[in-house]
Amino acid sequence: MTQVTEHGGGVWSLRVPIPDNPLGHTLVHVVDTDRGPVLVDTGWDDPDSWSELTAGLGALGLAPRDVHGVVVTHHHPDHHGLSGRVREESGAWIAMHAADAAVVRRTRESDPGTWLDYLARKLASAGAPEEHLAPLRAARSGGRIRTLPGLGAALPDREIVPGELLDLAGRRLRAVWTPGHTPGHVCLHLEEEHPAGLPGRGRLFSGDHLLPGISPHIGLYEDPDDATVTDPLGDYLDSLERIGRLGVAEVLPAHQHAFPDAAGRVRELLAHHEDRLTGLLALLTAPLTPWQLAERMEWNRPWDRIPHGSRNIAVSEAEAHIRRLVKLGRAEAVPGTEPVAYAAV
Ligand SMILES: [Zn+2]
Ligand SMILES: [Zn+2]
Repeated sequence: MTQVTEHGGGVWSLRVPIPDNPLGHTLVHVVDTDRGPVLVDTGWDDPDSWSELTAGLGALGLAPRDVHGVVVTHHHPDHHGLSGRVREESGAWIAMHAADAAVVRRTRESDPGTWLDYLARKLASAGAPEEHLAPLRAARSGGRIRTLPGLGAALPDREIVPGELLDLAGRRLRAVWTPGHTPGHVCLHLEEEHPAGLPGRGRLFSGDHLLPGISPHIGLYEDPDDATVTDPLGDYLDSLERIGRLGVAEVLPAHQHAFPDAAGRVRELLAHHEDRLTGLLALLTAPLTPWQLAERMEWNRPWDRIPHGSRNIAVSEAEAHIRRLVKLGRAEAVPGTEPVAYAAV
C-alpha cells in the first residue's frame, strides 16, 4: 500500500521503496506550486519504486506527467534514480547543485575498467590486503563489470545555487549548501510559516544531511581526476552547524520520518562525531593504515561479516575521519610507512 503523508501547507511525502536495502524507503516530497507539483527527490530507479511513486502521486490526484520540476538534494541513486524517468514523462526540469552534477557527469562518462583500476589503487594505498584486491583485479581482467550504478543517471538542466531562492511560482524555497555526505548536497529551506503554527522559521527538506535516527555515511568525494585533499567530515560538521542556526520549526528528511527540533538533532550528531573522533584517536596510539583502522572501528556488525563492497565504503569512512584528525593536528602520517600509517600526536 502506498503511504502518503500530508504535512500541510501544500506539502506531502510519498514512501518510495528502495529494493534490498535496510533503509527501506525514500521519502519523496511533493510541493504544490502555482505551476504544478514539484518533487524533492524521486527515489530508486526500479520498476517497483516507479509504480509506488506513480501510485503515491495518484493518491493526490496527480500523474507523473503533471510534475513541473524536480529538485534533487544529492546525486545518490535513492534520491536521483527516477528523476530521468519523471522528466521523460512530464518534461519537468531537474535541478541539482553543480558539485553533484559534476559527479553525475563524471560517472556517466567513466569507463568501468578505469574505475576499477582507480578503486584498486586507492584501496591498496589505504592498506587493503591482497585477498580484498584480488576479486577487483579478477573482475577487471575478466571484463565482467560492464556497468556501474549511476551510469544512466540523468544530467540536470538547472543548477541549484546556494543561498538563492529556487524559481518556484508562489513558494519561497531557498537552497542551503550542505556538503559532506556528497560534495553538492543541498538542504531546501521552505521559508513559510509552519502550517500547524509550530514555533520556528519554516521547514527544511534535509535530504540525507539531517536524519532523525541515522548518522549519514561520510566518506571521501571520490574523484579520480582531482588530487585535492578534501575534508568531507569537516565539511559535514560545518554544514550541520549551518543547519542548526536556521532555527527551523520542522525537518522533512528523505528517510525515516519528519521531526521538530533540528538544533537538538544537530547537537546530538556533533557530539556523536566528537565521541567517534576521540575513540579513533585512542585506536591510533599505535600506527594504523586506514584499512587497519576500519577493521578496528565499530560498525553495525563484526568486520568479518561485512561484505566486500561495504568494506570499501567503511575504509572510505575511516579515511575521512583520519583526514579530519590530521587537519585538526591530532594525528599525522608516520614517515617512511608504505602504505601510509597514521598515529595520534
Ligand atoms: Zn545519500
Ligand atoms: Zn539516501
